[in-house]
Formats: sequence, C-alpha cells, structure tokens
Amino acid sequence: MKLTDLNPVWTTPLGGREPNGVRILVIDCPCLRGHRRRIPLGQPGMSSFTDGDTGVYVWQCSSYDLASMTLYPSLDFGCWHGHMKNGATIRVGGTEPVKPS
Ligand SMILES: [Zn+2]
Repeated sequence: MKLTDLNPVWTTPLGGREPNGVRILVIDCPCLRGHRRRIPLGQPGMSSFTDGDTGVYVWQCSSYDLASMTLYPSLDFGCWHGHMKNGATIRVGGTEPVKPS
C-alpha cells in the first residue's frame, strides 16, 4: 500500500509529550480499521533514537518525501507490523489489507 494512500499529514510535536525538533507524520493505520497513527521522524539520515525527556521513540527516515520515504526500523502498532520502504508499506507475517475503493 502506498504511504500516500494512508491520508498522510504532517504535524508538529505535542509540547512536552513529544520531542522538539522532530516532524510528526500522521497516517491512517495500515491495518485500515479506522484509527490514525503518529510517527515521530528525525531529520533525514539521522539514526533512530528514544528521546531522553519524553521517552518517545523517533524513527530514522530516508527523506521527508512521502512518495519515496523509507523508515527504520519497522513499525509495530500491534494491530499491524511492517516496514515502510520506498513510500509503501510491507506487512510482516500476513497479507496487506485491501483499501476499499
Ligand atoms: Zn491499526
């Protein structure tokens, strides 16, 4: 599934609850059960890390380009676990849900 099909929007960190200096990507959860996910992203090329002040995990991203973005490591939302690679999701251990058209 393409990242751009998950209704992505950029937003800013929640002060005090998410680290400053990151971008937050909000997408439909790839499980397609109707919830949204917030993904904190470091600057392109930065390694992933856990923010010391908030305890929030920040993913490594290849770029801010939604059409080609690769995130590291994988995303594990519980309901869906997989990779974001070259702007598309790759589910681990199952087939992707199909988005109704
Ligand atoms: Zn989900």
